[in-house]
Amino acid sequence: MARVYNFSAGPAVLPEEVLQAAAAEMMDYEGTGMSVMEMSHRSKAYEKIIQEAEADLRDLMNIPDNYKVLFLQGGASQQFAMIPMNLMKNGVADYIVTGQWAKKAYQEACMYGKANKIASSEDATFSYIPDCSDLPISEDADYVYICENNTIYGTKFKTLPNTKGKTLVSDVSSCFLSEPVDVTKYGVIYGGVQKNIGPAGVVIVIIREDLITEDVLPGTPTMLKYKIHADNDSLYNTPPAYGIYICGKVFKWLKKQGGLAAMKEYNEKKAKILYDFLDQSKMFKGTVRPEDRSLMNVPFVTGSDELDAKFVKEAAAAGFVNLKGHRSVGGMRASIYNAMPIEGVEKLVAFMKEFEEKNA
Ligand SMILES: *Cc1c(COP(=O)(O)O)cnc(C)c1O
Repeated sequence: MARVYNFSAGPAVLPEEVLQAAAAEMMDYEGTGMSVMEMSHRSKAYEKIIQEAEADLRDLMNIPDNYKVLFLQGGASQQFAMIPMNLMKNGVADYIVTGQWAKKAYQEACMYGKANKIASSEDATFSYIPDCSDLPISEDADYVYICENNTIYGTKFKTLPNTKGKTLVSDVSSCFLSEPVDVTKYGVIYGGVQKNIGPAGVVIVIIREDLITEDVLPGTPTMLKYKIHADNDSLYNTPPAYGIYICGKVFKWLKKQGGLAAMKEYNEKKAKILYDFLDQSKMFKGTVRPEDRSLMNVPFVTGSDELDAKFVKEAAAAGFVNLKGHRSVGGMRASIYNAMPIEGVEKLVAFMKEFEEKNA
């Protein structure tokens, strides 16, 4: 078995323990004589899987009782439409645009109502988080939208924006469960799970109950109403059953690691190794304003496209794969999600040092 160090931004590395447990249960899940993939989503065995997954997630994130947890499909991108369709009661929402994903969400919302771009960092290739302490929040805004960790650019909101009392909606796809969160500060927290939790095809939406109503935009399809999924405990139709099962296993793994406070400590330690190296290197440079750096996605460049390409190629040959930066930014990006072991980052840095010496 040849496992690589996979620095992919998503779909991304998962805990080996989880993969092994899933493999062991592939042919016969707990004496049912079948795989979870082959099982009715209305069966007792599956009911237990989804209920435990929700309970463990509630436990990990300390989710209050007045929030629903929904396991949906369509990826994070489906939420770009679902959010305005369900939440734009006044037809107005404010968007803080800190990267491609926030921009796509903003553009989608423009199709459903008056979406205002109240702040942006596009002027500097999204390499920082704008000051959000006193933004011109619209008086009739139904919500304020952010993308909390910008996967492509490697920035992260270290403090949440001052929404002046408006509901905060946050895309946490690439920082989901990487550190503790105060759920009560949000109206909606959502994320595709393929970055930090499980297989692509599942999106988790944590939504305050008062935001779930029948009062949605005209023409909203049944499948895009939060209420239908909330009323049916995410079993209105066949959910992404196998994906939810893997998410459940990752939740249990996270609890075993000590929960989100322990993950934060581990993630800080991991990221520091890489950032400390970048800060002293003469060849490699981080591209993000230091105070806005993400713990999950670390973009860097050498300053030469040729050298970047050589590095990515040689790194891959040495077992460090998927280090090429997003096509819109170039350079390199190391995504170091929860399941990336600290040895992976240590070995990557050792490889970078060696590369720097050889190519100086
Ligand atoms: C990957 C990503 C998305 C898009 O996710 P899909 O599941 O492919 O739709 C949206 N937002 C963020 C922050 C992401 O990292």
